Amino acid sequence: MHLIVAEKNISARRIAEILGHGKRIVENKDAGVSTYSFGETTTVGLRGHVVEIDFVEGYSNWRSAEYTPRSLIDAKTIKIPTEKKIVSLLQKLAKKAERITIATDFDTEGELIGKEAYELVRAVNPKVIIDRARFSAITSQELTHAFSHTTDLDFALAAAGEARQSIDLMWGASLTRFISLAARRGGQNILSVGRVQSPTLTMIVDREKAIEAFVPEKYWQLSLDTEKSGELIEARHTHGRFHEKPAAQLAHDRTKAPLVVTDVKSGTKQDRAPSPFDTTSYIVAAAHLGFSAANAMRIAEDLYMNGYISYPRTDNTVYPPSLNLDGILKDIRNSPFKKDVEWTMANRRAVPTRGKKSSTDHPPIHPAGPATREAIGDDAFRIYELVVRRFLATLSPDALWKTLKILFVAGGEEYTATGGQLIEPGWHVVYPFSEAKERILPEFVVGERLPIKKVTLDEKETQPPARFTQSKLIQMMEELGLGTKSTRHEVIAKLVSRKYVEGTPLRPTLVGRAVIESLEQHADMITKPDMTQTLESHMQQIKESNRTREDVIKESQKMLHRAFDQLEANELVIGEDIRGRTAEEMNLGKCPVCGGTIAIKHMRGNSQFIGCSQYPTCGFNIGLPNAQWGFAVRTDDICEKHKLNSVRLVRKGARPWDIGCPLCHQIGSNKESLAEIPSMNEKLAAKILAQHIYTVAEIARSTPETLAKRLDLSLDAAQKLIIDAGSVLDKLRRRSECRKFMRERLVPRKGRSSAKILTTLKEMGITELSGLAHADAAMLKKAGMSDAETEQILAEAKITYYGQKLKEIGIPAVSLKKYLAAGITDPEMFCNRPTATLCKLTGMSEATVQRHVDLVCTFLNKPAVKKIPKASAQKGKKELLAIKGITDALIEKLSVAGITNIASLLSADAETVARNSGIATGKIKEFQAAIQKKKDTAVIQI
Ligand SMILES: [Zn+2]
Ligand SMILES: [Zn+2]
Repeated sequence: MHLIVAEKNISARRIAEILGHGKRIVENKDAGVSTYSFGETTTVGLRGHVVEIDFVEGYSNWRSAEYTPRSLIDAKTIKIPTEKKIVSLLQKLAKKAERITIATDFDTEGELIGKEAYELVRAVNPKVIIDRARFSAITSQELTHAFSHTTDLDFALAAAGEARQSIDLMWGASLTRFISLAARRGGQNILSVGRVQSPTLTMIVDREKAIEAFVPEKYWQLSLDTEKSGELIEARHTHGRFHEKPAAQLAHDRTKAPLVVTDVKSGTKQDRAPSPFDTTSYIVAAAHLGFSAANAMRIAEDLYMNGYISYPRTDNTVYPPSLNLDGILKDIRNSPFKKDVEWTMANRRAVPTRGKKSSTDHPPIHPAGPATREAIGDDAFRIYELVVRRFLATLSPDALWKTLKILFVAGGEEYTATGGQLIEPGWHVVYPFSEAKERILPEFVVGERLPIKKVTLDEKETQPPARFTQSKLIQMMEELGLGTKSTRHEVIAKLVSRKYVEGTPLRPTLVGRAVIESLEQHADMITKPDMTQTLESHMQQIKESNRTREDVIKESQKMLHRAFDQLEANELVIGEDIRGRTAEEMNLGKCPVCGGTIAIKHMRGNSQFIGCSQYPTCGFNIGLPNAQWGFAVRTDDICEKHKLNSVRLVRKGARPWDIGCPLCHQIGSNKESLAEIPSMNEKLAAKILAQHIYTVAEIARSTPETLAKRLDLSLDAAQKLIIDAGSVLDKLRRRSECRKFMRERLVPRKGRSSAKILTTLKEMGITELSGLAHADAAMLKKAGMSDAETEQILAEAKITYYGQKLKEIGIPAVSLKKYLAAGITDPEMFCNRPTATLCKLTGMSEATVQRHVDLVCTFLNKPAVKKIPKASAQKGKKELLAIKGITDALIEKLSVAGITNIASLLSADAETVARNSGIATGKIKEFQAAIQKKKDTAVIQI
């Protein structure tokens, strides 16, 4: 079998379709991974990298004293499969193959992905022939050529990729960990630092600082309107910007009719056709059409995979001689751009245009086959059209403009007007995306006199430099050698997702700025592009086999150690600095109670809340759900009513949970519980809000004096309100306890949520543990619980509820445990069992048990079972033994159920006795019948 390994599933399928030349392709699925076979050939697609490098075990604990952030620099790494199913299928196929061709993308990353596949194959089949096919477009012509001219894998190129991977991991992991720990940030809130990321962020921060430092300067511009053959023409003063108003004003005042033409200069200007697309110029052009960099790359990759365009990651702006331009024109003639293709064919320039960069890896981006809007969708088609038209433009003739410059004089002041007319449109015919506009002026003759319609003196201000758009930033990164054509847009996306930058155009957030400014102060090599540029040149040396991967990594390690020397020496300062600067990002606005500042606070153990800067003087706070439901962050929305920033809970992989204005949220979520206070009414509720009291707890905690004063109530009324609030609070506490109890015990099952059961129970009136302990089993089942669950929950609810009750009554925890273990779960049982029985069941002394019985019975307001005098106990025992079938052992059991003589046995309920004593109901009934019979006989005898 000949196995072909492609970079992705979709390219594996396309390769099979093309190389199969019309043969039937058999698709097989193995653990969800597809293979495509024809004849003796099978293709399989990877998912880009199927392994990833990570540190060996032991480095995952951030707070380890042994494995410090610095230790990550020299930590050993291993390759771990990330796509296990693909890896195992690849190895399974490799064992059976006689030849394996690596057909991953043709660049550094693709070579590394190919090398990863190579290593996986070699691990299971050391002898199989492995070769490499390189192509720049997934088209019949390219593939046929590539598969008949296969070469070896380029290990030097792959090593360059590996070096970059290792260095990125080492820099990113060690610095991110160091800075995050220093600033005491963890979880979702870590501060990432990266080799390319940080210098890029620095550019954005620097630009922002330049904008802030910019002082606008006033200037004045002078222009006039004249008219010729009914057309209005604007002419500008030749002085350009006036920096002094008096000079501008003077020129303005001197401008008097007539306006005389003093010179007419006409000429022509060549307008060169644009050069072929490399990745960066493509992204810039796509940005003009409204595509973000990441989106533009995603669509281009899709188009490549489907054979519509060539590989979109390229630095090349010169078509290689091997590229069959005529063939491409012929191919895309069948697309909706037939007319433009034919125009280009008919007007073809002698030599296609060329840019400044020529490299040997890929040709510039060009179309590879015809596509239609119906086949690929609107967005993809707009991108496809851009690539097609750019290609056509590079083969089209230059355009020619006729230029005209007129000079005027009016009262000694000079003015000028310029015009441009496209006389040979050239490439503009096929490429309508350029901004060149015609400005056609009428004919003028020297000495001609014209009227002045209006003279305008404009006051203007110099503008600060503009913020970076994504495409502008990508251009800047390229100029500075930051990142590669494949990674630049990903780096920007990362800065956005890390909340370091926001908006379009990009501006830094408070955190982004804090991190960069702190790093600049203490280890500026991390923020400068120099180190990354050095690495790029080292990578080039690895590719050319002039240096080894190990050597380059070692140098990078040394560099990073030097950075850590500075960083570690300043750890405290850096941490405090970042914390201080970023504290503001959690501020929400003015405290409604004291006017201090309220802010989101994150505590250890995932708890978070909103508190006041004046704490403990001001106790205002708002509870927030635990951070496991989402890390609380501030958003830019501001509540109109309360002038507070909104709060949002963010969690990886989940939709954010908007809390909104924290105060609106607080008022809304406490409305119901406040309404539970019996004396609450609308007027009182409004008064309470006006006094910035938001919760029942705040009322319950108040003193009658302060509350009476704040709410303008009598002392008695205030006292009552406080007591009412206290009992509502207790009720709320009991309810939440009951909800927690249920949630812990209800196993999540498909189609059933604990929330739903809780709602049903609420409708049934069961909201507290006491209700649950006494609930009817049938009701619980009706609410959606299974038989087993009902039984378990009822039993546990009883134990929990009565356990609490007994604890409240004053039974110490140690004793309580013993009672509960002996089945004494209901306080009532203390009052209807003889003390001796309780002693026997629990193994505690009589004095102790008696003390507990007294406590419980006093609490329940019930008489305790009287202690039976020894004599009467003996008498009762004798009576019972006289009944047929009753033995000493049974008397023992009966006494546990409170039966001490025949009278109490006769009057007792047989079922209850049976349950408490463990003797069968039938037996008890038999005894009772025997006693009754004896009694009846005795009566007759009388
Ligand atoms: Zn406050
Ligand atoms: Zn609000």
